[in-house]
Amino acid sequence: MLDKDFFSLQTDRFRIEGRSRSGHETFFRIRELGIALDLGRCPDLIVSAPQVFITHAHVDHCAGMAFYAAQRHLQRMPLGRLYVPEEAAGGVRELLAMHERLANTHFDRTEVVGLGLGEVVRIARGREVVVHRASHRVPTNAYEIRENDTSLLFYTGDTDRAIFERNEAMFKAEVLIVECSFMADGDQARAVKYKHMHFDDIADFAERFENRMVVLSHFSRRYARSSSPRRFCFASISRSA
Ligand SMILES: [Zn+2]
Ligand SMILES: [Zn+2]
Repeated sequence: MLDKDFFSLQTDRFRIEGRSRSGHETFFRIRELGIALDLGRCPDLIVSAPQVFITHAHVDHCAGMAFYAAQRHLQRMPLGRLYVPEEAAGGVRELLAMHERLANTHFDRTEVVGLGLGEVVRIARGREVVVHRASHRVPTNAYEIRENDTSLLFYTGDTDRAIFERNEAMFKAEVLIVECSFMADGDQARAVKYKHMHFDDIADFAERFENRMVVLSHFSRRYARSSSPRRFCFASISRSA
């Protein structure tokens, strides 16, 4: 069943592959850019990404970090970088060091880099990733991919509606991946409590979106696949330029 959640979405400029379910696993792979956004439990297609941008330390987004580091070591791959919120960097390094001790190995092909608001990281093809901040229960980065003056993609990570009130860039990006953990009537309070987004929050800001494609992700497992179309696990709305 789980593999059926895997999706592949072609945008104007690149293909996004991944899987996203709240509390279970979220990762997105963009091969053209050599990056991953979150790594979930680290499936094989993430291991080959030299730059992985992790939004926050909840395990559904980063459980596979040690596997990533171990695979890059075993396969003698070039240095890979795990970018994490700066507040989480020390803990992530401790976690990986613990795995190194337990396994009597050395993750010499992986580096952990802490990122704070406004920092910029160069990626493939002259593009760059700009760090924004989401509004969640733990420090959470949102990531924007830019090329010159064009915003190609904005990924919110887990967040509540406060990100809409403090961030302009997300409304202008060509592609926006926004979390939408909750959709059903009655789940609004749950979204507030756990600092996630309800579809009503997105609807409240509907006139602000200038994006060509808006991708809703991170749906709660409370919503059964059997009661919804396949697209429900990963809905996208696109409009022509
Ligand atoms: Zn999550
Ligand atoms: Zn989270």
